[in-house]
Amino acid sequence: MTARAGAPLPIERLSLAKCKKASHSELLSPDAEFSNLYLTELGRGCSRGCRFCAAGFIYRPPRLWDADAVIRGLRERSDDVRRIGLLGMEMANNATMDEISAYLLESGCALSFSSLRADRINDKLLHLLSQSNLKSVAIAPDGTSERLRKVINKGLDQADLLRAAKRLTEAGILKLKLYVMVGLPTETCEDLQELIDLIGLIKKEIDPIGKSRGWLTEILLSVNCFIPKPWTPFQYHPFGINKKLDKDEEYPAKQAITQLKEKIAFLKQGVKQFDNVHFQADKPDNAMFQALLSKGDRRIANVLYDMAAHGLPWKKSIKNHNLSTEQFILCGSSSTSYFPWYIIDHGISAEYLWKEYHKGLSAALTDPCDPLICRRCGVCGEI
Ligand code: SF4
Repeated sequence: MTARAGAPLPIERLSLAKCKKASHSELLSPDAEFSNLYLTELGRGCSRGCRFCAAGFIYRPPRLWDADAVIRGLRERSDDVRRIGLLGMEMANNATMDEISAYLLESGCALSFSSLRADRINDKLLHLLSQSNLKSVAIAPDGTSERLRKVINKGLDQADLLRAAKRLTEAGILKLKLYVMVGLPTETCEDLQELIDLIGLIKKEIDPIGKSRGWLTEILLSVNCFIPKPWTPFQYHPFGINKKLDKDEEYPAKQAITQLKEKIAFLKQGVKQFDNVHFQADKPDNAMFQALLSKGDRRIANVLYDMAAHGLPWKKSIKNHNLSTEQFILCGSSSTSYFPWYIIDHGISAEYLWKEYHKGLSAALTDPCDPLICRRCGVCGEI
């Protein structure tokens, strides 16, 4: 990789250490996904270090804005906007949330959540939920088993998930969405079975509550294929299969797709035994294309151009350019692999990511970020 004369390589990203006014939605349009939802940041980054999550790594270190900055951002909305989405709820401390909640309640706003962290559901949050009249909430176990949640460094256990499901149902939630991934490193059939068993346990917790009020809470299980993302520990892992590949070893894309389809079918069949449990899943072929966009380099530009200009399916377009899906997303890498996204320097050392990948493979947990004392990934100390 070479840079043009005068251009830096790598390009250092800029990072905002403090913020006077939180960033927020600039334009609400009926043609967009969040047509009447005013999104406002509570901070940047996330302290948890989930090993699959790009946002958790590229927005390091985690930074929380103070309540005044958030409220300044909220005040910029137009008067008729009443639905508010707060980004970064996982990190916000209670004092900040208290001030923001008081402001939202005074202004007659309703809060909307994309997903809630199961171990952060407390009385304050439940109060906000009931004030906002929300009936549907998503929580993301992400890994199908306790062991896999350690592999991804999620830091949630079964007790957290059961407690969250119970408390949300008690608070009047009628639809509980559960997001999980298949195709994670080291995943086995036992991990998938554990998810089916967990749904049985959740139903045992929530059905009596639903029966006593005359309306059962539905569960929607949303199954998504794991996509390896740049600048994460799992950038080294192939798409769709559970095993690590040796450097330059390739694995057939068709077999990866077959495995993902079998896993999705297994889960779908497994939850059929439960009433009031709905199932939705990714199409592995579409997920594979996402993985290609995630890990591809400049050669993918012509593939995309042909798809747009000539209406070609992506697999055909790849073939026309003498490229293969395997070389980008089903090919082993090593600690010294140079990835196309390394032209941007986020401050994280590749050595740290490689180490984290291997900790993940052995289901070892890493502590959450503590920017005051921790210097392990290379980011802190620079701002
Ligand atoms: S140095 Fe430590 S606290 Fe700072 S971003 Fe990295 S892991 Fe988090």
